[in-house]
Amino acid sequence: MLTPVVDDDGAPFWEYAARGELRVQACAEPDCGELRFPPRPCCPHCHSFDSEWRRMSGKGRVWSYVVPHPPLLPEYAALAPYNVIVVELADAPRIRLVGNLVSGPEAPLNSVAQDRIRIGAKVQVVFANDEGGEGGSGLPRWVLERP
Ligand code: ZN
Repeated sequence: MLTPVVDDDGAPFWEYAARGELRVQACAEPDCGELRFPPRPCCPHCHSFDSEWRRMSGKGRVWSYVVPHPPLLPEYAALAPYNVIVVELADAPRIRLVGNLVSGPEAPLNSVAQDRIRIGAKVQVVFANDEGGEGGSGLPRWVLERP
């Protein structure tokens, strides 16, 4: 199983994800409010260290994708073929998250045929709820809005 690496800055992201919420770190400075990802201590816009976690709708679109081919590290080769998509968030178009397009929260990594993946396709976040599954519990994954 491939599990996320959680650091202090990113820990809240995973805590919210485990509850089924997609949240993005935002600057808490009233005049700024800039969203940022990946999480980090300081706002790159105004250099404030105050931050909050803003809930997103979980809607986005496929900004780019790849289907990796061997040679791959053994843990990845065992899962191939699979897709890796870059999702542009509808609520924050400058924020892009990397994940997998699947047919449902617990579906296998290759559950969406490669020829169904289109740049620009609308997607919605779902959260894996399967402790023993490929992504563990709370891993954000993506499903097509119109499968
Ligand atoms: Zn700021």
